[in-house]
Amino acid sequence: MTLHAGVIAVQGDVTEHADAIGRAGRAHGREVAVTEIRTAGTVPDCDLLLLPGGESTAISRLLHSEGIATEIVDHAEAGKPVLATCAGLIVAATDAGDDRVDNLGIADVTVERNAFGRQKDSFEAPLDVKGLDDPFPAVFIRAPRIGEVGEGAEVLAEWDGHPVAVRDGPVVATSFHPELTPDSRLHGLAFFEETDRASAPAGE
Ligand code: GLN
Repeated sequence: MTLHAGVIAVQGDVTEHADAIGRAGRAHGREVAVTEIRTAGTVPDCDLLLLPGGESTAISRLLHSEGIATEIVDHAEAGKPVLATCAGLIVAATDAGDDRVDNLGIADVTVERNAFGRQKDSFEAPLDVKGLDDPFPAVFIRAPRIGEVGEGAEVLAEWDGHPVAVRDGPVVATSFHPELTPDSRLHGLAFFEETDRASAPAGE
């Protein structure tokens, strides 16, 4: 069965994510068709959803004005996987401490925008991520820091004493940009581990 992945493309370049989803799908023996989403009406047809980085204030404004915001919330509430990265995490969170961001609240965490960016605009760090055997090369770009983590959410990775990757039910959210390295394991973790488990024969 071909899975339908939607990459929210209201702002910024999303081709790296589309490529990473394809590579992760192949690594899990899955066929995936990827669609870039700029208008309402497509999210309901998607099995998987990616909320990429960019500028969270602009992404938030466009998601609401285009009518895509409620579709994303419905998708997550239906238990379908979402990967939200960097500005995507900011939008997905419950609170970003910024009135210009109208949060979706699909990941039960609070975030602080640009918290890592003040020291260094961009850096790469080898991250131990729960569910991955070897460290993941995480690229941080003016990255948000996760503050409070709600009871239902699980911390998957920390950097410098702060959570930088979490899972809240079907939603995986990261402070960093997993699409900027050839390593697609984070996309695999967010999208295909669950579907693999769901389709595995009983007893495995
Ligand atoms: N600093 C951006 C914001 O607050 C996020 C940066 C990113 O997505 N790389 O929206």
